Amino acid sequence: MSKQNVNRCTFCGRPKSETELLVEGQEGFICNFCIEQAHQILVESSQSQTTTPKGQIEFNYKPSDIKNFLDQYVIGQENAKKSLSVAVYNHYKRLNQKPSKSKSKNDDVEIEKSNIIMVGQTGTGKTLLAKTIARLLNVPFTIVDATVLTEAGYVGEDVESLLSRLLQACDYNVELAERGIVFIDEIDKIARKGDNPSITRDVSGEGVQQGLLKILEGSIVNVPPNGGRKHPEQRMVSVNTKDILFICGGAFDGIEKKIAQRINAEIVGFNSIRETGKVDKDNLLQYITPTDLKSFGLIPEIIGRLPVLTFLDPLDRTALRNILTEPKNAIIRQYIKLFKMDGVDLDFEPQVLEYIVDKAIEFKLGARGLRSICETIMLDVMYEIPSKSMTSYTVTLDYAKEKLAHAEFLKYARA
Ligand code: ADP
Repeated sequence: MSKQNVNRCTFCGRPKSETELLVEGQEGFICNFCIEQAHQILVESSQSQTTTPKGQIEFNYKPSDIKNFLDQYVIGQENAKKSLSVAVYNHYKRLNQKPSKSKSKNDDVEIEKSNIIMVGQTGTGKTLLAKTIARLLNVPFTIVDATVLTEAGYVGEDVESLLSRLLQACDYNVELAERGIVFIDEIDKIARKGDNPSITRDVSGEGVQQGLLKILEGSIVNVPPNGGRKHPEQRMVSVNTKDILFICGGAFDGIEKKIAQRINAEIVGFNSIRETGKVDKDNLLQYITPTDLKSFGLIPEIIGRLPVLTFLDPLDRTALRNILTEPKNAIIRQYIKLFKMDGVDLDFEPQVLEYIVDKAIEFKLGARGLRSICETIMLDVMYEIPSKSMTSYTVTLDYAKEKLAHAEFLKYARA
């Protein structure tokens, strides 16, 4: 660097005395003004990547690309992955369809929203799918829980608070929120509580479904910006939900019985079922239809607004085993990384992984249990290893068995 350039901004030439900050790099200097300007350029260029000048949103993934991406994080669940990939792909197409101003024939075709409902036992990957897909998206995304919602006037949150979360996810930019995606978890918890709705007022069931209707179908909704309950003095934000995509998920405990009844089979567990040989009794969810959702207690109008119905398979032994090691951020990979940070090569005897899966199945803990079992086995090692000068460590089957033998949570898990 030549002498006369020292103490001058290499970009704008300002002398140090005229700047508030002059940062030195390998080949020159940059002042606070140029840093700010460069930052502004970055912000503008990232915005223009998301939204093209005509208000179009760029999204360069085909449904198969989206599914390939999901495959890296979620094991199995082919049906749900395909449905989600197509729905998200079409969501972008819908956002980019031109408003039909001219009266030409083609413009009369308006792509309608395809909100999705995913049915699957708890811990089979519904939330994981939603979270994973969110990583790909350049529209606001939020996960909300339907259990906190109640009909207006009762303890709980107004249905509109679903949209508050979406607004928060995009810093209250209403225009962005109006193109976002909302994942409503535990949608089954707002099912009608009894067959006869007139006996008592069903404030967290049918009442909420009625409230949800207008949000799902697309209308202008007044949203309390901070969520919770609306009150008269509060400032409201108007949000048009026409272009917001809703993905709902729920376990719908017991819906298998309704499916079984409908397909004229007997309830899972009876020997005669196995003899028929045609219907896969271990995975009745794959035969789910909107009628079953209605029998479970969703009102027909809500079902109509969730036209894409998909299911998640129960996780078998192989799936659980794969979950331990295959996904990009699989539990075992996480431990290996943690130990690597301390300079220790961590290894597991293959039987240990089989043993962990056995225990998760034995105690009916599913995929969620894998993590708790691993944590129990690994706690003492994680506590001790950093203070020992070790470069490698292998978790043996005997060690894993010994640690789990003392685990309190497993003693009660079966109950
Ligand atoms: P739910 O269906 O109840 O929403 P989650 O998606 O929250 O279940 O799953 C709980 C955890 O179990 C996830 O965080 C993940 O670690 C693991 N898991 C469940 N299903 C899968 C799957 N299909 N592939 C990979 N991991 C899974």
